[in-house]
Amino acid sequence: MRLILMGPPGAGKGTQARYVAARFGVPAISTGDIFRVNVSQGTELGVEAKRYMDAGEYVPDEITNKMVRNRIDEPDAAPGFLLDGYPRTLAQVEELDGMIKFTGHALDAVVVLTVDRDELVQRLLQRAKTEGRADDTEEVIRRRQEVYAEQTAPLLDVYAERGKLVEVDGMGEVGQVTSRVFAALEAASGATAG
Ligand code: AMP
Repeated sequence: MRLILMGPPGAGKGTQARYVAARFGVPAISTGDIFRVNVSQGTELGVEAKRYMDAGEYVPDEITNKMVRNRIDEPDAAPGFLLDGYPRTLAQVEELDGMIKFTGHALDAVVVLTVDRDELVQRLLQRAKTEGRADDTEEVIRRRQEVYAEQTAPLLDVYAERGKLVEVDGMGEVGQVTSRVFAALEAASGATAG
């Protein structure tokens, strides 16, 4: 299974990614998480990425693509993977196409979680209290939403044209959303979950 989980900041990608990846027996690969680990460890990559993350901007494609390529090359991702937060730009879409093609496989589906704008802001402000992420301040949240609308939302059309897009209502309880994701994936591909 090769899946992408998309949606604006606060849509619940990270939470759902864990359940969906577990269901299909593939690793959930979150570029945001990998960046945050690097930031906390003070690696060269982390120092570079932090400048962009703290401002709510995207880390440059070159850096992000290389990181994902290395991660996908690891043995646990050989049977497949679920990408959370990647791709986010058209350049990343092209790069990912190349990576998947190289392995001789195909992308199965792109799940997009849709959530009302007000609910997104509420969730992010709540997360700011519980997780203390440096980029969950009101100003940076606003910038991240803008960057998503400008650079990432257009990717939905690209995947829709390819017939890969699976839209899922991301409002409500975590468990309900997970059930909807499973049902939508099964309906979309007749996928047999392992
Ligand atoms: P996330 O945890 O997915 O919200 O990502 C947190 C931050 O990491 C983003 O606001 C970006 O600064 C950076 N980031 C994560 N994924 C990407 C990506 N695919 N391309 C560029 N920057 C990214």
